[in-house]
Amino acid sequence: MPMPLAATWSLAFICNYRCPYCFIPWNESKIGVQHAQVTAENWLEFWERMYDAHGSFWIHVAGGEPFVYPGIVDLLARVSEHHSLSVSTNLSWKPDILYGRLPPGKVAFGLSFHPHFVDFERFLSSAVDLQKHGYTVTVAVVAYPPLFSRLESYRLEFEVRDLAYNFLPYQGKIGEKNYPQDYTKDERDFLYLNTVQDRSTRDQQMRSKPTLGRLCAAGQMRFRADADGVIYRCAPSVKLGVGRMGHIQDPDFKLLEEPSPCPAEYCTCPEEYSYLLDLGLNKALVVGRRVRDSNSR
Ligand code: SF4
Ligand code: SF4
Repeated sequence: MPMPLAATWSLAFICNYRCPYCFIPWNESKIGVQHAQVTAENWLEFWERMYDAHGSFWIHVAGGEPFVYPGIVDLLARVSEHHSLSVSTNLSWKPDILYGRLPPGKVAFGLSFHPHFVDFERFLSSAVDLQKHGYTVTVAVVAYPPLFSRLESYRLEFEVRDLAYNFLPYQGKIGEKNYPQDYTKDERDFLYLNTVQDRSTRDQQMRSKPTLGRLCAAGQMRFRADADGVIYRCAPSVKLGVGRMGHIQDPDFKLLEEPSPCPAEYCTCPEEYSYLLDLGLNKALVVGRRVRDSNSR
């Protein structure tokens, strides 16, 4: 089974929530305006060019919150004509804005529940509605340590409604504790048991195995396009200040010809991590759910 061509598309760093565990530095003044440097038309042209050059991609649409982006449904509908999409969203919008406009066979959703901002029953009802309309959905909750005791009750509700679920390890400090390293044994057991992800992916999220120097196909088989149109090999390379590959308006942009060593001590992105060569390159992660694809044109 060939590895899918894939990309993460961080459309805009804008969001209607401000979760305490969010990784986006909202206090940086330029973060929320980056997306103004490129237009929806620039993105459409870019994804057309990628299709002409390579064929269909699995595109993980991320942010921020993609549904705050003006004209998002029309934009996704156009891009899904040639590519398959998996959209990460906080589901703060009414699902019926999609019906009849985005084909369920081409668009999946990674739905994140954020307890500081939304009622659980309302979130569940929208998630089930999307699933009933034929969309593949996976629900995720950050295992934020102050709210850890609620996770089991969420799990039971997801089970009852037949929703695939994933509890994402928190990455960061709280007081003297540093996560994910400082989860207790019981908490770690819970996180390993309750996920759609496999053990090697959970190991990655728990920072069990360094990735530095291992050969990875990120940059060759997948890439990351940021809100300002800059293309990188992967998220950790952005943080390290390496791995810039070009810009979406560059007509000569090319993927790397072969895998190359990982520059990061630990890979922080589960989807990108699955492109490490020593994991087998026969599968891909798309928003918490394994998806197989033949890249048919
Ligand atoms: S919904 Fe997501 S992007 Fe928005 S603040 Fe929360 S974690 Fe950050
Ligand atoms: S393992 Fe992760 S950090 Fe390393 S090159 Fe691959 S995607 Fe980037």
